[in-house]
Amino acid sequence: MVEARTMTGNMQPGDEARPVIVWFRDDLRLSDNPALRAAAQSGRPIVCVFIHDEESEGLRPVGGAARWWLHGSLQKLDATLGDRGGRLSIYAGAAATVVPRLVEGFHAGAVFWNRRYGAAERKVDEAVKTALKAQQIEASSFNGHLLYEPWSIRTKAGGPFRVFSAFWRAAHDAGEPEPPAPVPSKLRFFKEPDMGGPRPVALADLALEPSAPDWAGGMRSAWQPGEAGAQAQLERFADEHLANYADCRDYPGRSSTSRLSPYLRFGNISPRQAWHVANAAAGAGGHGASRNLEKFQFELGWREFSYHLLYYNSDMAVRNLQPKFDAMPWRDDTNALKAWQQGRTGYPIVDAGMRELWDTGWMHNRVRMVVASFLVKHLLIDWRQGEMWFWDTLVDADSANNPANWQWVAGSGADAAPYFRIFNPVLQGEKFDPQGNYVRRWVPELADIPPSVIHRPWEAGPDIAGYPVRIVEHGEARRRALEAYGDLA
Ligand SMILES: Cc1cc2nc3c(=O)[nH]c(=O)nc-3n(C[C@H](O)[C@H](O)[C@H](O)COP(=O)(O)OP(=O)(O)OC[C@H]3O[C@@H](n4cnc5c(N)ncnc54)[C@H](O)[C@@H]3O)c2cc1C
Repeated sequence: MVEARTMTGNMQPGDEARPVIVWFRDDLRLSDNPALRAAAQSGRPIVCVFIHDEESEGLRPVGGAARWWLHGSLQKLDATLGDRGGRLSIYAGAAATVVPRLVEGFHAGAVFWNRRYGAAERKVDEAVKTALKAQQIEASSFNGHLLYEPWSIRTKAGGPFRVFSAFWRAAHDAGEPEPPAPVPSKLRFFKEPDMGGPRPVALADLALEPSAPDWAGGMRSAWQPGEAGAQAQLERFADEHLANYADCRDYPGRSSTSRLSPYLRFGNISPRQAWHVANAAAGAGGHGASRNLEKFQFELGWREFSYHLLYYNSDMAVRNLQPKFDAMPWRDDTNALKAWQQGRTGYPIVDAGMRELWDTGWMHNRVRMVVASFLVKHLLIDWRQGEMWFWDTLVDADSANNPANWQWVAGSGADAAPYFRIFNPVLQGEKFDPQGNYVRRWVPELADIPPSVIHRPWEAGPDIAGYPVRIVEHGEARRRALEAYGDLA
């Protein structure tokens, strides 16, 4: 059973009839949802709520593309609950104010939720617990988001890890992640009388979807947010792509990775489900049963490590994990930053990635590494500028994975790429998109350029209509980066 932490509360006679509030946050699903499961097992009627909190101090506002995903996930969760006779009630406001009011309004006996790991989120949860304690209401939290709680994986000296490989070895020693639990077979929902408590808001009132202009068309064609979409995606990956994952995962034109990241971000699926479905598909249980399985689970391990880092370095999105990077002479170059954001750098693989991101809210991991390296090394622009752009444009924008990876690429991270590793965008393109299919899909100006020069279009002729000239020359930019980084070393 997933560990529950009961913080407060004494059961009083008659409490069994009082409803339990399940507070949904980054766990927008019914299956393998420990808070919901515990509520079902309590035998009490259940109230399902989501609180859109833009008021509590320190919470980072959800970025534009992720807001679109959140809208879809809430809509789907409400519909799935509706199929079972329940519903999702949505509220807006500071959680530490809203939750106690809901407890009063519903005359609830308990509040259950799955844990979050950022500092501001933990602070909100602490405030909610304190308020519930004053009301003498039970508050229980669970692990629905990670394979291993950040504090459960420790060095021999009892501290946190800074190196992934050592972290992942220790995670192996902690044993196989628990199997996921199915949707509770019986869910008894509280029939909400009008109690004059806080008024729920309509999903549309949260204005999570873009309008005027509606820029989400590409996302709508690329994705199906929500639990059913997540399960379908996981099955498709397990059936069609897992068997070639290790060899194909670096090729952006082959769609061979799981594309589970936004589903994991919003908890439309749990990492335990991804882990165990992959185990079953690979025909064996356990770490290392096959090279493909091991590689996929290793990537889930990077997600665990990012959360481990976030838990112990709460300001990781703004502070260099290696303080010597505070002296880095980042350049302030608005034109170059804009060219990067708009996919107009003149380097096809970089431009294809940035345009894929803008259109679909997602980018392949190999290309994320190339575009991030290009921003921080070729353009010498602060990684925080890139992190913020990704935060706003990724449907999977994640408070742990995004800063951890940006710091890894920039070299300022805990376990970072060495500073002299500067991706050559031409060679990366030629190696991982040899026919240029990925580039051709996202950069139509290059549709007729042959594979031999598609990653170096300046060699194809004097100029290609509409395609920008390179904003920096690779050799010069590399020298400049090595100098700046070398001064820090
Ligand atoms: C600069 C940069 C920024 C990134 N920002 C994010 C982000 O905001 N959100 C996000 O989920 N991932 C981020 N990543 C990590 C990675 O690129 C994506 O998780 C991955 O591309 C998602 O595709 P997938 O689900 O098909 O991955 P798969 O290859 O199928 O991997 C399965 C799962 O493992 C996890 N994972 C894979 N690679 C990593 C990684 N390097 N770090 C942490 N977890 C990983 C993801 O949850 C992913 O869904 C970033 C990477 C870079 C280089």
